[in-house]
Amino acid sequence: MANGAPIFDRVALIGIGLIGSSLALAMRLHGLSRHIAVSTRSAPTLATAEKLNLGDSYTLDAAEAVRGADLVVICTPMGAQGAVAQSIRDSLKPGAIVTDVGSVKATTVRDIAPHLPDGVHLVPGHPIAGTEHSGPEAGFAALFPGRWTILTPSPQTDAGAVDKVRRLWEGCGSNVEIMTPEHHDRVLAITSHLPHLIAYTIVDTADQMEDETKEEVIKFSASGFRDFTRIAAGDPVMWRDVFLTNRDAVLEILGRFNEDLTALQRAIRKGDGEMLETTFARARAVRRSIIDAKQHIPDVKPGDESAQ
Ligand code: NAP
Repeated sequence: MANGAPIFDRVALIGIGLIGSSLALAMRLHGLSRHIAVSTRSAPTLATAEKLNLGDSYTLDAAEAVRGADLVVICTPMGAQGAVAQSIRDSLKPGAIVTDVGSVKATTVRDIAPHLPDGVHLVPGHPIAGTEHSGPEAGFAALFPGRWTILTPSPQTDAGAVDKVRRLWEGCGSNVEIMTPEHHDRVLAITSHLPHLIAYTIVDTADQMEDETKEEVIKFSASGFRDFTRIAAGDPVMWRDVFLTNRDAVLEILGRFNEDLTALQRAIRKGDGEMLETTFARARAVRRSIIDAKQHIPDVKPGDESAQ
């Protein structure tokens, strides 16, 4: 159901995977754009997007999709952002806004900004919402309500452009916060990137165990392992790009994590129950704060039990 007048006449989505398709569905549901132009790299993905009726026009040519668009949303893996920006630069209309959904923000500015002509506004963005599924069929409009979207415009960015991108995400049901790209990347290093690295490590360690134990890991996975496998099921290309692009912040937080892990290791070796209990109690309180902030429900597509 539309909330009011559309914010945009034409939005071009470059990349139509989980995030691009969820945004398309949310924009349609809330009537946020008069026209949604869909572009992606491969013919099969474009055909699926068309079958799902995610847009109003479809093309494999990103430059064609952005022609006449007042908003361009780059929804590809981060490693492709620079090449996409380069391919659309000559087709952007004056005054157009370019945004993205990438999980790391300092590199968005580094990779996209140099390609944009004067008069085109860059408002980098990141919806803190997602699942471990990929592709246009994974999308759902309910991905964004109640979640946060972080925007990282530079202080010089046109305030009207920032406001329009804010209204887009708010129109999808998201809460919006503005911060610097560097601050975003530090916050996400601890809240998202480190947890994924730990999950990938735990699952890989289990996978390398001898066959007999491996079977039991699957059988008894409900004891905690299962939750890590969900986190470690994210798209390998996307997560490769996250660690390549947010290297410094992740390495810094990993250093602190290693120190804390070593302290726990020593407590276990020394039988220091007090230290263990104090640490676990502090961690438990954090869970309570997340529940109080209503951020504890996983982003699971309605009816999708495989993602639980
Ligand atoms: P996805 O489902 O894998 O979809 C990726 C899309 O980008 C597809 O349309 C794909 O095209 C296209 N693409 C892939 N490689 C490309 C390349 N080299 N050049 C041009 N296009 C390319 O990905 P996603 O999960 O939506 O993630 C997209 C972005 O959102 C990423 O930057 C990620 O950091 C960010 N993000 C993801 C999540 C999450 O939980 N997944 C959450 C928040 C933000 P084809 O299929 O046609 O090849």
